[in-house]
Amino acid sequence: MYLPKVRELKEAITALIKGPYTHPFPKEPTPLPDNFRGAPKYSSESCIGCGACAEVCPARAISVEDIVEENRAFRRFTCDYGNCIFCGECELNCTSDTGIQLSQEYELSFFEQQDAREVIEHELVLCEICGAVIAPRAQLLYLYEKLGTIAYSNPTVYLTRLKEFGILTPESDRKDKPIDRWDLVRVTCPSCRRDVLLKEEWG
Ligand code: SF4
Ligand code: SF4
Repeated sequence: MYLPKVRELKEAITALIKGPYTHPFPKEPTPLPDNFRGAPKYSSESCIGCGACAEVCPARAISVEDIVEENRAFRRFTCDYGNCIFCGECELNCTSDTGIQLSQEYELSFFEQQDAREVIEHELVLCEICGAVIAPRAQLLYLYEKLGTIAYSNPTVYLTRLKEFGILTPESDRKDKPIDRWDLVRVTCPSCRRDVLLKEEWG
C-alpha cells in the first residue's frame, strides 16, 4: 500500500487551512504588478493626434487615417489589440507623454473583432486655400503652447489659437478667391504659403 510522504501530507494540510496556492481567476481578477503592460489606452485630454505612436509601433498595430468629409475632417487612430505586442514603445515615445498609456487591462477576448480596438479621433485643420490637411487642431494648439512667442512666426499656428476665441474670419469666406496679400494671415498649408510668399504682383 502507498503511504503519503510527510512533506506531501504537510502541504495538503497547509492547503486545506490556507486555501489553494493559485489565484481564483476568472472568478476574481488576478493581482498585477504596478509595471504590468496591458492594453494601450488613448487619453482624449492628452493625445494631440501627432501620429508619433504609429510611427514607432514595431508591430504596426496603430493605424492612422485622415478623413475629409463635407462637414467635418478628422484623423482617426486605431490601435488593434490583435496585433499589439505590448512592448510599450508608443507610451515611451508619446509626444505629449501621456497621450497613450499601457493599462492594467489584460482580458482581451471579444466576440466581435471591432471590440478588440482602441479608437480616438481628432479634428483636422485644413488649408483655407487648397483644402489640404495641415494637422490636428490639438497638435497646432500644443505647438502654440510649447513655442511661446516664437509661435507668432507661423501664422497657421497662432491663427489656429486665435480662432479658439472666435474672432477671425471663417474659412468659407476665402473660397474660390485668387491669392492675395491677405492670404499671408490665413491658415495655410506649406505649399500655399510658399505660393503666397512668391507671388510677385499683389493687387
Ligand atoms: S500625442 Fe502621443 S498618443 Fe497622441 S498621437 Fe501623438 S504620440 Fe500618439
Ligand atoms: S504597445 Fe507596442 S505593439 Fe502595442 S501599440 Fe504600443 S508600440 Fe504598438
